[in-house]
Amino acid sequence: MGEKEAPPVQLRCLSEEHFHQRVQDDGVWTVTSYEQRKVESNVHEAFTAFKENYSQLVKPILEKEKHLHYLRKGLQHLSDAYECLDASRPWLCYWILHSLELLDEPIPDSLASNVCQFLAHCQSPNGGFGGGPGQHPHLAPTYAAVNALCIIGTEEAFSVINREKLLEFLLSLKQPDGSFLMHLGGEVDVRSAYCAASVASLTHIITPDLFDGTPEWIISCQNWEGGIGGIPGMEAHGGYTFCGMAAMVMLKKEMLLDLPALLHWVTRRQMRFEGGFQGRCNKLVDGCYSFWQGGLLPLLHCALRTQNDHALDMTCWMFDQQALQEYILLCCQNPFGGLLDKPGKARDFYHTCYCLSGLSVAQHFGSGDLLHDVVLGGEENRLRPTHPVYNICPDKVAGALMYFLSKPIPEVKKASSDQEQ
Ligand SMILES: [Zn+2]
Repeated sequence: MGEKEAPPVQLRCLSEEHFHQRVQDDGVWTVTSYEQRKVESNVHEAFTAFKENYSQLVKPILEKEKHLHYLRKGLQHLSDAYECLDASRPWLCYWILHSLELLDEPIPDSLASNVCQFLAHCQSPNGGFGGGPGQHPHLAPTYAAVNALCIIGTEEAFSVINREKLLEFLLSLKQPDGSFLMHLGGEVDVRSAYCAASVASLTHIITPDLFDGTPEWIISCQNWEGGIGGIPGMEAHGGYTFCGMAAMVMLKKEMLLDLPALLHWVTRRQMRFEGGFQGRCNKLVDGCYSFWQGGLLPLLHCALRTQNDHALDMTCWMFDQQALQEYILLCCQNPFGGLLDKPGKARDFYHTCYCLSGLSVAQHFGSGDLLHDVVLGGEENRLRPTHPVYNICPDKVAGALMYFLSKPIPEVKKASSDQEQ
């Protein structure tokens, strides 16, 4: 049959069998099934548009240059549309810096230094970081700021963090049942346990009693569905489940969760037709859950391997890695750069960060095992691996740990841990 050519990419979304994976509503329409059909038809359109240009030479492409352009612009200047994120400015730094590192794009020294100075202004004199200069400290921007500084990874970046005050801040949020407030006078949910464990473990400030009772409190958030809710008794949710599981891994107590139930729940959140993940049962696919749900699988894999689960496949994660990559590459890229929730939605830095993070998880089986990597579309699409607990690149986690482990755990001053009422 003539010369041998490279086999075409076998895309799941173009197969006959795939077409029959759409939702079955048995002729009974509900608002949910109507919305689901609408999304499936938009996704189908995106898949067919690709199919029409499809030949043996056309592969799904990650538009790296366009995404870089979008990200670089975001670090310099943000449009008025971002006004609503004025209380999330460290998040913008983190989302953009992490996206750049996944794309293997170096951060210029002067820019890195500007980010350090800006984040220093967001740090509260009482410890922790606020959403912007002069704002009250809050655990979410504290997590984002510490991650952003660890990505920069310079002496200047590390020395921004006031570890003594950070520990005082965490202790001031700690509740008698082991949970943490998100901020003084604020709400409790499982995000705060994750943010606290993440910044405390990266900066080496974990005292013997800082996380007393926290694993038990997280376990009480795992519900009958198998996933984890925001607080005990709430519906299981991808974001909270990731936070709960990752926090348990950091606290080395993940074995106390019902891991088979968790695995059962998360694997059923990958959509049959779209290939991406939904955040909760009966919800629509969304690109950001590529990480919140997809990132759970490496954590579960590792935990089950430690338990000596012999049924474990040692060549891939327990989700369809190719289907997720098809969804992200064909449905979640804005043609002018940046990534998004689902076709028809606008791009933003949050979805750019978590679509790329999920894509990275789907490409890499572990961080050094090239043999079992699945990079859909070829090497040009390869991203750097991400650390599934902290969601920054593994070398940056190692750099931060090396730096902070050389410093002693701060002493807790008794008076500072008493909560002011
Ligand atoms: Zn989303």
